[in-house]
Amino acid sequence: MTGHGLLIIGSSQAGVQLAVSLRALGYDDPITLIGEENHRPYQRPALSKEFLQGEITKESLIYRTQEYWDEHRITVVKNERIIRIDKNEDGSGTAYAMSGTEFPFDRLALTVGARARKLLIEGVDLPGVLYLRNADDALELKARVPTVHDVVVIGGGFIGIEAAASLNKMGRTVTLLEAGPRLVGRAVGEETSDYLLEHHRHNGIRIELSARVSRLVGSGDRVSGVELADGQVIPADLVLIGVGVIPNTELAASIGLHCDNGIVVDEHALASDGVTVAVGDVANLPNPVPGAPDGDRVRFESVNNAVEQAKVAAYAIVGHPEEYAGIPWFWSNQAQLKLQIAGLSTGHDRTIVRDDPEKGRFSVLYYRDERIIAADCINAPLDFMAVRSAITKGAEIPWQKADDPTVPLKSITVTA
Ligand code: NAP
Repeated sequence: MTGHGLLIIGSSQAGVQLAVSLRALGYDDPITLIGEENHRPYQRPALSKEFLQGEITKESLIYRTQEYWDEHRITVVKNERIIRIDKNEDGSGTAYAMSGTEFPFDRLALTVGARARKLLIEGVDLPGVLYLRNADDALELKARVPTVHDVVVIGGGFIGIEAAASLNKMGRTVTLLEAGPRLVGRAVGEETSDYLLEHHRHNGIRIELSARVSRLVGSGDRVSGVELADGQVIPADLVLIGVGVIPNTELAASIGLHCDNGIVVDEHALASDGVTVAVGDVANLPNPVPGAPDGDRVRFESVNNAVEQAKVAAYAIVGHPEEYAGIPWFWSNQAQLKLQIAGLSTGHDRTIVRDDPEKGRFSVLYYRDERIIAADCINAPLDFMAVRSAITKGAEIPWQKADDPTVPLKSITVTA
């Protein structure tokens, strides 16, 4: 031990949670939390929603006060990009920043997240073509919105739909182009995709599925449209691209850690060297849902996972290993819609739809072998809580009784 303590690279949700959990568990060594952005650690979820719509300020996104960091002896470093790491067999080493600053450590945590996948087509470098992953992206988008009329969003995943719903609410003419046959195809089932499609179209967003974008066209010095494979050009003075993310595994790979769609970790968030921890969007972990057909390993891109896995990593670091507990859950606010997802629906063999148009609630329950495994709940927080609780406790919600949306799921839950 050199007295340098823990170095956390990535002041993301996962990095912040790891530092906070360690102090809560009584970890006493120095903690340094490094971020490459020139911002204090901040929360991302609101960037595509409340922040973009001007409902909340930049300051309200900041995690914790400087007093908190000082009081808990957590050194927060911003604007330092780590470009190289030397690591010894015992897990200690030195990280080198692009600025020339060196950060020695006894132990390393990688919470480096993922970056926006770039679309490699003609015209993507035109001014007015943006991505939305970090605060600078959001600040640029927010600054441009007042000057634009026609927006094209490429990608109908969470980022695309949330941003499209926000921009539509802000009075812009919005077209959303999704390559796949349905919206949010990676995260929700068909019934939920159909509901979202109808809702957002009804609210005025033009949505094209199975869209083939061939190039972005410009006039003067900025983007002016998006050309589809059939030659049609959709006018755009702003193009927002949200076509997925790529985990930032380069540093981990450079120090010999096993990477495969993320940094491969065990159930205690330990990487292949048995000492470095990796947490959050960058980590490929054992699937916490036993027997799930998603496979033995998953990489979650969610706040819930970053928080839960960081807690597991903190326990591993203080030497009281705890396994990842609870079930995965996700949420997405899309203007008036609040979508909450409990569990993983992959491999379901039955769906039950609870549609209550009068109250504006819609839930889809997923079953496999007669057992509840997941739910997508739109403006239906009680359904979400009932399903999440049932799955966590191993209780059952008999599908035969679940389709009446006026009957609370809690009232028909059968505890094991
Ligand atoms: P995503 O969820 O992977 O969705 C990307 C979408 O873009 C997919 O539907 C994909 O279709 C589509 N796509 C890919 N290439 C395309 C193309 N050339 N033209 C049109 N569509 C194309 O990723 P994301 O929406 O960019 O979000 C980025 C990350 O932020 C994800 O980790 C996401 O979970 C996270 N995020 C989460 C939330 C939330 O939890 N509420 C909110 C915002 C962002 P195919 O599937 O057919 O390829």
